[in-house]
Amino acid sequence: LIPLDVPRIRQDFPVLTTPFHGKPVVYLDSAVSSLTPLPVVARMGHYQSFEHTNVHRGVSTLSQEATDRFEEAREKVRAFINAPSTRQVIWTRGTTESINLVAQTFGRQKIHAGDEILLSAMEHHSDIVPWQLLAEDRGARIRVIPMNDAGELILDNLEDLITDRTRILGVTHVSNVLGTINPVKEIIRRAHAKGVPVLVDGAQAVPHIPVDVTDLDADFYAFSGHKLSGPTGIGVLYGRKSLLEAMPPWHGGGSMILSVTWEGTTFAAIPGKFEAGTPPIAQAIGLGAAIDYVRALGLDRIAAHEHELLAYATERLKAIPGLRIIGEAREKASVLSFVLEGIHPHDIGSILDHAGVVVRAGHHCAQPVMTRFGIPATTRASFAYFNTRADVDALVSGILNVQEIFS
Ligand code: PMP
Repeated sequence: LIPLDVPRIRQDFPVLTTPFHGKPVVYLDSAVSSLTPLPVVARMGHYQSFEHTNVHRGVSTLSQEATDRFEEAREKVRAFINAPSTRQVIWTRGTTESINLVAQTFGRQKIHAGDEILLSAMEHHSDIVPWQLLAEDRGARIRVIPMNDAGELILDNLEDLITDRTRILGVTHVSNVLGTINPVKEIIRRAHAKGVPVLVDGAQAVPHIPVDVTDLDADFYAFSGHKLSGPTGIGVLYGRKSLLEAMPPWHGGGSMILSVTWEGTTFAAIPGKFEAGTPPIAQAIGLGAAIDYVRALGLDRIAAHEHELLAYATERLKAIPGLRIIGEAREKASVLSFVLEGIHPHDIGSILDHAGVVVRAGHHCAQPVMTRFGIPATTRASFAYFNTRADVDALVSGILNVQEIFS
């Protein structure tokens, strides 16, 4: 593999060279939201300046061209995740909305009193709360796949957790707190052997590892544009064709219909059935451009670069007395959570911020993970393709400085 030309790549991110608290910013918070490279910003600006009108409406050339650009972006997503058809790629506002869509359509259709929803112990709130809302409404029950102290799912008893009442299994591909890469292909195979469909939360996976929904045999796969070098306000729900076709619509309105009379409505075919109203057009095109950008860098080269940084950061952080890494799975993406003895993560985050090092401190929208490890919060550094060893060094000196202030 030819290593990434990181100095060149960094020129695509002006924020990295603009002083921040008087210093260049060290951005170690891509897991919260990735930075947007200039070509993606430019593509959205071009669309908005020269190509914009509404899509799927009217006969104007401009509208047809906007529709073509919008649908080309859908094709980029399809190819990126190797979905069989663009019909199975539904635009949403993000991972959260994708999962709510499944809970409110598939869930309402299939989940009834006494049924079970099986979730992993390391889910983000966006793969917990939509199911709790549904379970409350339906009188269904949520069960949890546990994890070990390293932050790996314990799958020995998976077949016992999947009962004849289990209607869906939800699992994150990569944990946003622990960095754990879950063996989702194996989980899906075992769930399918018991007739249970699987929803994969791919929010933290798509930026780091190549994802092939066909090879995984996933029933649903959700992710957000803004964690993949794209804009906010756009996300994707991939679904198995037979499931999507059988699911009732969720939001009603324009674009999702075939015909409307006062007696009733017939709905459009997928994906239109799930895309009521005017969609986020520039954002979809921006996500398409982001996919072009990361594919041009090469997903395997990105993974190799981030893996090297993660190994380096892990080694350097482990050498700091009083620092404990939370999440030591064998398979990890470039997300690194830690706690410092006697110092609250919010204090660590604020002091690092003043040194120009941007990290996230908190529960990371995964409070059950905090409870599992008996901690209120962690500090989390996450690495992307534009990060360097110097960024890791800045993190380490920042942490040593925090310890000095508190000593
Ligand atoms: N799942 C995971 C694993 C995440 O990390 C996030 C974002 N923190 C989400 C879901 C929610 O994504 P969004 O806020 O873009 O809908």
